[in-house]
Amino acid sequence: MALRRTKIVATLGPATDDPAVMRRLIEAGMDVARINYSHQTREQHEQRFQLVREQSAKLHTEIGIIADLQGPKIRIQRFRGGSIWLDEGDEFILDPEWGADAGDEHHVGVTYPELPRDVKAGDTLMIDDGRIVMKVERVRGTAVHCVVTRGGQLSDSKGLNREGGGLSAESLTPKDKQDLKHAVAQGADYIAVSFARTGGDILAARKLVQKAGGGCGIIAKIERAEAIRHIDDILAAADGIMVARGDLGVEIGDAYLVQMQKRLIRQARARKRVVIIATQMMESMVENMIPTRAEVFDVANAVLDGTDAVMLSAETSVGRHPDTAVEAMSRICLGAEQEWREQDAHVQLDVHFDRIDEAIAISAMYAANRIDARAIAALTETGNTCVTMSRIHSAIPIFAFTRHEVTQRKVRLYRGVYPVKFDVTHTDSLEINRELVELLMERKVVQEGDRIIITKGDIRGSAGGTNLLKIVRIGDVIGRYQ
Ligand code: PGA
Ligand code: MN
Repeated sequence: MALRRTKIVATLGPATDDPAVMRRLIEAGMDVARINYSHQTREQHEQRFQLVREQSAKLHTEIGIIADLQGPKIRIQRFRGGSIWLDEGDEFILDPEWGADAGDEHHVGVTYPELPRDVKAGDTLMIDDGRIVMKVERVRGTAVHCVVTRGGQLSDSKGLNREGGGLSAESLTPKDKQDLKHAVAQGADYIAVSFARTGGDILAARKLVQKAGGGCGIIAKIERAEAIRHIDDILAAADGIMVARGDLGVEIGDAYLVQMQKRLIRQARARKRVVIIATQMMESMVENMIPTRAEVFDVANAVLDGTDAVMLSAETSVGRHPDTAVEAMSRICLGAEQEWREQDAHVQLDVHFDRIDEAIAISAMYAANRIDARAIAALTETGNTCVTMSRIHSAIPIFAFTRHEVTQRKVRLYRGVYPVKFDVTHTDSLEINRELVELLMERKVVQEGDRIIITKGDIRGSAGGTNLLKIVRIGDVIGRYQ
């Protein structure tokens, strides 16, 4: 069976807490699990970390984990009756000083004390992902007086955005800082920073990760208009980005999401960063057993755009058929990949390399695509060689041979990269070639006569040390070194 190149991130939640369900998610093709710190308690997150580790160990695989921090999502507070109804033309007041549980037909509290300072008459505020829209009329003291321009039912704690962005709280709240420490201690492979505004937000998170003794990758969630303006700095600072289409769509307008998704994927790949497409990819599968045709096209188009991964949110976390959603996503990715002849994509030839390992990685892809190599076997410590390789469009699978579990888990997010547990330090160089080939043959990836490319370093077990590229024909290597 073809190896799926596009990876699947599935959000955990109450619907995935049964060990049998977790097992089925892994079997159905979940590569990376997302633990969402916006909901529930640290104890529950902890149990989910354990559940992933337990079930993946049973299935002899390594699943990556993204700890997604809540971030400073600005929300309205709560209503006395749980919800209200607003009609177009109604006057309504948002006031951070209003009692947190004392909302009524005319007022509601807001979690963001700066709101009266940050908005002005004429601004458009979007509540509940734009389901409710109001225009700011005037600000009096702490009260922001608005007129409803799109009405409907409004219930407790819904998110609040300003069209065009600009409502900016610190990216890492005190709760996020505690959660980050917790996630590092639990062994998270990636930390996702919600509502990142600048590269500085990402660097701050990285510092905290280091202080907590972790080596997690950092993923910047692109869900603010400011993040788009600072995308260069963010890409420089982060290991990857998540196109968080929910909040982003509210801030930049849904009409601009499609071009933005394509642009962000292109920019991330060009800057050697990983990219995840998220939110409502198969929303109807929260209830249904099959996706809508529009959802099929959405997932497939993200694959064709060149994303590393596609993500499921409510479909798995609170959905009725979490494993069926993963299965459907996997099937559609595979279908879309077959349609796209990635071999046709060219390798850019006019680039200059500062790093030897990157020059080797790109050269390997260039050669692999031109000698019909069956596979690339990259001996890697940190996975860096593999992320570089997988930025080049190619249908040739890249196997990341590594002794580090954390690297095995991290590379599960990279398009077309597959981890193989392998200790390079125990044996000599020729023996390694033979063992690599045997492992690939066991997996039925290659057979005698096939060509593969091996990359490795002179000094085994040192990070960033890749400086060798070897092209071997399988019968030859086995015959000679046996
Ligand atoms: P969330 O982020 O699920 O944490 O809100 C995704 C998005 O905004 O699309
Ligand atoms: Mn969001």
